Amino acid sequence: MKKITIAIDGHSSCGKSTMAKDLARELGYVYIDTGAMYRAVTLYALRAGLIEGQEVAVEALRSQMPKVHVSFCFNEQTGRPDTYLNGERVEDAIRTLEISSKVSLVAAIDFVRTAMVAQQQEMGQGGGIVMDGRDIGTTVFPEAELKVFVTASAQVRAQRRYDELTAKGEACELQEILENVLERDRIDSTRAVSPLRKAEDAVVLDNSQMTISEQKAWLLELAKSRMND
Ligand code: C5P
Repeated sequence: MKKITIAIDGHSSCGKSTMAKDLARELGYVYIDTGAMYRAVTLYALRAGLIEGQEVAVEALRSQMPKVHVSFCFNEQTGRPDTYLNGERVEDAIRTLEISSKVSLVAAIDFVRTAMVAQQQEMGQGGGIVMDGRDIGTTVFPEAELKVFVTASAQVRAQRRYDELTAKGEACELQEILENVLERDRIDSTRAVSPLRKAEDAVVLDNSQMTISEQKAWLLELAKSRMND
């Protein structure tokens, strides 16, 4: 079977990464979570004092971008890749609500996207990859053999995120998460560079009413049929 490129895009907190990770493991493909890369840049900017409220010190971040290195290392215990920022494991630090509330601002900056997209294209050279994000099928790999656009109602997405954060012991409010989900959708869809939109040739999946195992089976079948094309 040929090694294809699989692009999974869609709205925030709709379970893209769970589906993408499972699919990659099932196929023996490499999985890349591009949202984690933008989250790591955001963590760097926050720690460097370059974000104040909803304002990013863009010029200062531009000059420091060459010092920001994001990488992934496969974690044998979880069977999934962990995110590293300049050699430090930041897998948990990038998943907080604070990072979620700033990441769309950082991800809208043109030079941040240029740097991340170049890295993503390099990682995906040669196929055999499942990459999830917002612009994979439109900008990073417009020639991907399989593109899926995932969505679910904002209420369902907020509830899933709330369950995930509370399971980790992070104190949070459902309403605050719902507002964050809606605000990220707004910024991601209206930004000037690579806005979130469905690629014309993407298959749409609304998983509001689906279980994780139903999504998994649906995606695996679709991927296998594309690999045989
Ligand atoms: O997928 P996740 O929710 O972790 O992504 C975090 C944020 O990173 C998104 O809300 C979006 O602003 C940004 N992002 C992006 N392009 C991607 C992946 C994520 O702009 N390819």
